[in-house]
Amino acid sequence: MKTEYAKRVYEELEKKNAGEKEFLQAAKEIVESIEDYVAKNPKMQEQKILERFLEPERFVQFKVVWVDDKGQFQVNRGFRVQYNSAIGPYKGGLRLHPSVNASIIKFLGLEQVLKNSLTTLPMGGGKGGSDFDPKGKSDNEVLRFCQSFMTELYRHIGPDTDVPAGDIGVGAREIGYLFGQYKRIRDEFTGVLTGKGLTYGGSLARTQATGYGLCYYAQEALKALKNTSFAGKTVVISGSGNVAIYANEKCTQLGGKVVAMSDSNGYIYDKNGINLDVVKQIKEVERGRIKEYVNRVKGAEYHEGCRGIWSVKCDIAMPCATQNELNLEEAKTLVNNGCIAVCEGANMPTELEAAKYLIANNIIFTPAKASNAGGVATSGLEMSQNSLRLSWSFEEVDNRLHDIMVNIFNASYKEACESGNKFDLLTGANVAGFKKVAEAMMAQAI
Ligand code: NDP
Repeated sequence: MKTEYAKRVYEELEKKNAGEKEFLQAAKEIVESIEDYVAKNPKMQEQKILERFLEPERFVQFKVVWVDDKGQFQVNRGFRVQYNSAIGPYKGGLRLHPSVNASIIKFLGLEQVLKNSLTTLPMGGGKGGSDFDPKGKSDNEVLRFCQSFMTELYRHIGPDTDVPAGDIGVGAREIGYLFGQYKRIRDEFTGVLTGKGLTYGGSLARTQATGYGLCYYAQEALKALKNTSFAGKTVVISGSGNVAIYANEKCTQLGGKVVAMSDSNGYIYDKNGINLDVVKQIKEVERGRIKEYVNRVKGAEYHEGCRGIWSVKCDIAMPCATQNELNLEEAKTLVNNGCIAVCEGANMPTELEAAKYLIANNIIFTPAKASNAGGVATSGLEMSQNSLRLSWSFEEVDNRLHDIMVNIFNASYKEACESGNKFDLLTGANVAGFKKVAEAMMAQAI
């Protein structure tokens, strides 16, 4: 950090949030990239804009008690951070994963504030979830957990207050259970959650939106920074969940060949290009493990351990699994193998040192808060359709998503160029997202 003001604010934050590794990592990245912009606007420092921006408006932690199939009580911890509502109601997903804690929820919430601002839609930032592990649980156990979780969460959310959505471990099934319970308690049918099923207010193209949006953003970056496209490129995608699957689908449509995907146990390599129908059957229908792929597709390989995926030679890498899944050494391996672009689908999958290395070496690096904003943007479009009591066609939503991603790229690219390095889309995205939120906060004195 260069300025005294930024250093002081960050040190205070470190003291107040000791040990919260992911939260401090996200905050540091943001402060480092917006400090120059803040320094050019003395009024912002006078009005303590960084301190105000970094402090969440509200953080709720609650107990979730449910009964498993053996009749045993189970206790989990639920969270919701309502980070910033300067430009609209809080909006952000719910994550169910054993690693979930206050630090992870706060890092995701902070990132969400800037991401939502970049979409140009009127949405503030929030995030939530629980350390409940849906893996290996029966349908009935997931149902009982979701009902108990919503029995507490309902008092904090509402269609004009806070609108949660899915994230890791929360897909259509969980959103259905959560929505049903909210409706039962409140006795009202509103767009309080997004990612809903199509029969009860969901939007076409929401399922595809994050992965498709990632490819639309990457397409613009490839064009602007390397004068190229997906056509003929070899692609590696980590994860095999919602984001990874639809990133694979779109980049294949755009002419790329995806040769590797993973889950938390290991990765598959298929030199002929991954057969996505097989992956969808295993992950979406059977909720199985990725290694099953090699039993169904001849010539494919399975490697134990998910991190090895970055040693697979590729032109474009798309980390779409989870935070901090790509470190400096792995980034160097990618570059040595000829990789020209790392496009983030997951939230903060690249460690800060690795991101800096990629940018310094003129590798395209698309930061998550910009390149994976297609999911929340389409959630915003779902909210609009709910308010209008209308539903748009797949093409209409997909076209709007495409336009939004092009606009997000242009906004982040413009700020990157102004910062003096056109490859620094990280600074570009942070500054572009921050400007609007900061102005709204100052106008509202919040
Ligand atoms: P899913 O739950 O659908 O899929 C997550 C995938 O990542 C699974 O394949 C999972 O494997 C794998 N995974 C989880 N932890 C690890 C790990 N430690 N190492 C390797 N692989 C791992 O989640 P999504 O696809 O929805 O989300 C993926 C990422 O994208 C998250 O960072 C999320 O915050 C972000 N995101 C999602 C959006 C959305 O619309 N869904 C929107 C914006 C961002 P396994 O089955 O073994 O756990």
